Amino acid sequence: MTEPARLRAVVLGDPIAHSRSPKLHGFWLKHYGIAGSYEALHVPASSLAPTLTRLMAEGYAGCNLTVPHKEAALPLMDELDEAARAIGAVNTVLFRAGRMLGRNTDAHGFIENLRQSVPDLAPYLACAVILGAGGAARAGLHGLKAAGARDIWVVNRTRARADALAAAFGVKAADWSDLPALLPRATLLANATTLGMQGSPALVLPWEAIAPQTLVTDMVYAPLRTELLQRAEARGCMTVDGLGMLLHQAAPGFAAWFGVTPEVSPALRAAVLA
Ligand code: NAP
Repeated sequence: MTEPARLRAVVLGDPIAHSRSPKLHGFWLKHYGIAGSYEALHVPASSLAPTLTRLMAEGYAGCNLTVPHKEAALPLMDELDEAARAIGAVNTVLFRAGRMLGRNTDAHGFIENLRQSVPDLAPYLACAVILGAGGAARAGLHGLKAAGARDIWVVNRTRARADALAAAFGVKAADWSDLPALLPRATLLANATTLGMQGSPALVLPWEAIAPQTLVTDMVYAPLRTELLQRAEARGCMTVDGLGMLLHQAAPGFAAWFGVTPEVSPALRAAVLA
């Protein structure tokens, strides 16, 4: 009797040693008893296209992409989903019948992470403020719009980048100096800058302007309890850390490659943090 083909997936990046994806998918493979594998592959920018072609030829089910490949992969795909087109980046690739399908699951991860803590998200979508205008902010904006948020503000150090994002997504832009007036109205506040991340400068906000009814989330997850989350909790706010976004964005890829929709459980969180 021939053994069924072993399902294989991989994450490509440069650098890649820090990636938590192998641990994450490895946990699910073991948990669901799937005879598959998920590895990390160091791939410099110049090697992305030939590496994708080789992996598909070798029968891989697909891959994740991280820095610096997310934008560069767009023209290499045979098909893009709506999120990848809107966000302008691919983080999940499916190899299907000789075709490369590019998806972006970061917006899904952002919203599902919030929903896991707050199942009825609608009241918190009344007025959303996103800090930052990079890739993470684009994913957050796409997720918020898809979830039904209407009054959305992008606030960024470089105003021109906030304006460009506001125009692309049909939302509003504001300056950092507008935050004392804007934050009291916010029902959702999300940090999508690198500020507060290990090795980056601190995030400094007019903390007293954050209203206690605001749902506050940080896409930064190293450290897990960022100063933003600590300050928001001290104001009485409900908070959601950024690790859950990482875990939730991984689920659609796992489901597509390995055929099981995985659960984002406390045991998974503990395994990834270990
Ligand atoms: P990015 O494209 O490099 O964007 C960085 C953003 O941070 C820009 O808006 C930039 O503002 C702002 N920024 C950087 N240094 C600043 C400073 N000193 N003062 C004020 N603003 C500053 O990065 P990204 O890919 O969007 O990622 C942002 C964060 O989200 C990272 O910490 C990343 O790890 C996290 N993230 C988490 C997840 C998750 O699953 N939890 C997923 C994606 C990303 P300017 O435009 O003015 O430069």
